[in-house]
Amino acid sequence: MAAKKTAKIKEFEYKAEMKQLLNLIVHSLYTHKDVFLRELISNASDALHKIRFRQLTDKDVLDADAELKISIRVDKDKRTFSIEDTGIGMTEADLMERIGTVASSGTLEFLEQARAEGKELDANLIGQFGVGFYSVFMVTDEVTIETRHADKESTGLRWKSDGSGTYTIEEIDRPHRGTTISFTLKEDAADFAEEFHVKHIIKKYSNFVDFPIYVGEEKVNTVQALWHKAKDDIKEEELNEFYKFISNDFDEPLSHLYLSLEGTVSFRALLFIPKKAPFDLFHDLQQEKSLHLYSSKVFIQDDCKALLPDYLRFVKGVVDTEDLPLNVSREVTQSSPVMAKIRSILTSKILAHFEDMAEKEPGKYATLYKNFGPLLKTGINSDFDNRDKIIELLRFGTTKTGKDEYISLKQYVERMQEGQKEIYYLAGEHRELLLKNPKLEYFRKHEYEVLLLTDPVDVFVVPSITEYDKKPLKSIDKADIDLDAGKDEDSEALNEDLASALISVFKETLGDKVEDVVASKRLVDSPVTLVVGKEGMDSQMEKMMKMMNQEYSGSKRILEVNISHPLIKNLSRLNLGDSTNPLLRKSIVQLYEAAQLIDGNLTSPMEFVQRMTEIMEEATK
Ligand code: ADP
Repeated sequence: MAAKKTAKIKEFEYKAEMKQLLNLIVHSLYTHKDVFLRELISNASDALHKIRFRQLTDKDVLDADAELKISIRVDKDKRTFSIEDTGIGMTEADLMERIGTVASSGTLEFLEQARAEGKELDANLIGQFGVGFYSVFMVTDEVTIETRHADKESTGLRWKSDGSGTYTIEEIDRPHRGTTISFTLKEDAADFAEEFHVKHIIKKYSNFVDFPIYVGEEKVNTVQALWHKAKDDIKEEELNEFYKFISNDFDEPLSHLYLSLEGTVSFRALLFIPKKAPFDLFHDLQQEKSLHLYSSKVFIQDDCKALLPDYLRFVKGVVDTEDLPLNVSREVTQSSPVMAKIRSILTSKILAHFEDMAEKEPGKYATLYKNFGPLLKTGINSDFDNRDKIIELLRFGTTKTGKDEYISLKQYVERMQEGQKEIYYLAGEHRELLLKNPKLEYFRKHEYEVLLLTDPVDVFVVPSITEYDKKPLKSIDKADIDLDAGKDEDSEALNEDLASALISVFKETLGDKVEDVVASKRLVDSPVTLVVGKEGMDSQMEKMMKMMNQEYSGSKRILEVNISHPLIKNLSRLNLGDSTNPLLRKSIVQLYEAAQLIDGNLTSPMEFVQRMTEIMEEATK
């Protein structure tokens, strides 16, 4: 053993990214210092869960009989703090790979960006990015970790770092299993050396840790499985606290759902919907931690993807079932029929809860939809069993709603015009722009309501609905729409001969830029518009495709010409005089590009402006 004691201290350098991250944490994190305590307790609790889980199948571990607990000791005079757990402990590799590196690769860029934008790097951000342990450098300049892994042949290790550029690891004598983290507090963090202060914070954030936490001699937390209480005995305040504890959120939840079921499977669940979406819903780094799975009150795992479909991963909470064996392995949870059953019940209960919210608490549902709608909608294409329920949950702004007012497809159908057989939509980036789109003119004239799809996800979802309540969904961006406006013949329009002569010149001038040129039924105030042929994609969809695939060039459009428009009639007059008139040809190209501009597809703005200048020059001669 003596040799071990004198074993040399090895020094390691952090990766460059880690150094930057530490620097950010230490120098920019000025809010919520107490976060470090929550993070250290949460790590200790994880380590205790791991050893308890292992002991279900393997009794041959170091200190097999040790009480599973967390002990915190502080010394007010020396300003010292230590936290010890009897958890799984760490090996040298753990210390190097888990403590010495940042968990997720995007972390640094994100934090840098948040700082550049002047956002406060607060506890919420820290929690989201798995830089947990390092929050300790908010309150100290140097940290010591002493640890020994639960494997019997493990050795004691001491890790030390001042959080600047390097850390050291040495072997030590440590007879017992688990981890002790200790440090001296900075002057401005002296509060954390006061027992009452530490107890207060634990009560606030860590009351639901599954293991006893001692501060000095006193056990501070209550260690209870809230979801095992009867529904009516659970206080609102407890729910909020519990949510904050499992979700790392500082806000209260938007809504919760309590389930207690007995039948082919029995389980209890306490589920929560957060008020806000994480910074990037589609790459939610916490998504793994959506539901915590317990088996008969024993924690099994917290990355339980198998319990919820992906499109509901924003729902947080716990599920506890007695129908799974305690020593269930990760592989088993992925493929177990019990899990599949629970998942299917949870999914329909959650969707029913949303439906209920939409009806009884529309304001809350609007918040939910705004934050999580984009993810929820993707279920339409992935969960065919619940597709119809999700479709009912969709909400849209329309040409007839106010700015922040949204309706369901059901409401749309209820207020359809007499004789209207289709549900119309138009996709684009934002409402104001869409409302100015010439394609709406016909629909406005006939008072047909048009859904305005402004969420980028919509174009991947809505076309796949094809019909609702037997009414086909149609993009008004497309040519194949059943427009009956032609019936009320417009006496102001060019007669057929003039129109077809002019359209020939349009075709000749535009050549293969367009698929076709036709007289329009849908335009009222605008001279031309571009629509998509039967085979083509919606403009908005095409734009998204182009963003994802640089090579994709899109399909050709059909140019519709409003033969009642004064400008078009003027062009017809020029055409009668001389069909090769350069002004006529120039105007046609200009009209075509203007329509492209409105759709957001104009690729040559310089030529467009140049041509406009020339036309204006002639007009003002
Ligand atoms: P996170 O907890 O989000 O993974 P941390 O930086 O807090 O990130 O911790 C990194 C890793 O270090 C943990 O995942 C765990 O593997 C290990 N670790 C931290 N504290 C302990 C502890 N008390 N006992 C055992 N392992 C720990």
